Amino acid sequence: MTTNEGAAGEADWRRATELIRTADTLALACHVSPDGDALGSMLGLGLALTSAAAGAGKNVVASFGDRVFAVPRLLRFLPGQHLLVEPSAYPAEPDVMITFDASTMERLGLLAPHAGKARELIVIDHHVSNTRFGTVHLVDPAAASTTMVVERLIHRLGLPLDRDVATCLYAGLVTDTGSFRHSITTPAAHAMAGRLLATGLRPEEIARELWDRSPFAYLRVLGAALGRATLEPDAAGGLGLVWTYVSRADRAAEGLPYDEVEGVIDVVRRIDEAEVAVVLKEDDEGGWNVSTRSKGAVDMARVCAELGGGGHPRAAGFSSALSVEDTIAVLRPLLAAEGTRS
Ligand code: 5GP
Ligand code: MN
Repeated sequence: MTTNEGAAGEADWRRATELIRTADTLALACHVSPDGDALGSMLGLGLALTSAAAGAGKNVVASFGDRVFAVPRLLRFLPGQHLLVEPSAYPAEPDVMITFDASTMERLGLLAPHAGKARELIVIDHHVSNTRFGTVHLVDPAAASTTMVVERLIHRLGLPLDRDVATCLYAGLVTDTGSFRHSITTPAAHAMAGRLLATGLRPEEIARELWDRSPFAYLRVLGAALGRATLEPDAAGGLGLVWTYVSRADRAAEGLPYDEVEGVIDVVRRIDEAEVAVVLKEDDEGGWNVSTRSKGAVDMARVCAELGGGGHPRAAGFSSALSVEDTIAVLRPLLAAEGTRS
């Protein structure tokens, strides 16, 4: 294995490219509630595979297994949306299926049974916690984003990297590196950004779509959430916790869709007095999705795994059927244990 091939072994790379080259139809799936890396890696590879220029001409279907199937508003600018089908139209027993940015089979939601029945299942990911649930694994925990693994695969397949493909891959790269601010920002991440920019993509337009626009209703909901933010300096073994929540009633009052509140955590996590930041977000069905962040001293991937979720050490999440107060009450002892470990 050479260093630039990442953690996947040469045998896996060979097997993956062989399977993709010989398949007529490829079924792609990313994790539920897709973010820029999940959807960007899936649509980027999907576009490259369907490119007539490469003579690739594969039949591609792409989806994600949310009960209510809708592309988050901030990801609708991504090229390749025509490849998407609802989970109900997804092949029941795919010949070759490829998953993106999903660390476990469960993260595929409604599409998990399809993955279980696929003849070959190629797992493309960068989570250190990946459970290797497929038949072939391109999993590189050193990659800043799943789109970094996909760029390598596109290269190995000899497929062209045009501006639309590059836009998808760049969206994943900037999402998962926090615009090259997070600790995972490696020389390789910047080198890849350079290759993608060379295709003529528009970084300012991508950044604006991802982070710098919202309907007015967002300000009202954000204001309500920030107004009740709670600081617990003694939490996490004295390292501090800040938390708040956004209920569906908050959103209904302003007519704000669920997918508009993803950025709330980025405001809450900036405060100096807390190592850990938590935002609970209630979806339209009344379930709570919990976003958590740490500054590095507390391993949130481990905390969230205890609660049935997962993610990265500094950015992880889980779902909760409990009330807001009860969810925080369950978190406190786990944070205390992790805070004193560090
Ligand atoms: P976010 O807070 O931005 O939704 O998610 C942060 C990180 O945690 C991402 O890597 C995301 O994939 C992961 N994550 C969020 N929720 C869950 C979950 O319920 N289960 C698992 N395994 N990972 C999650
Ligand atoms: Mn990712």
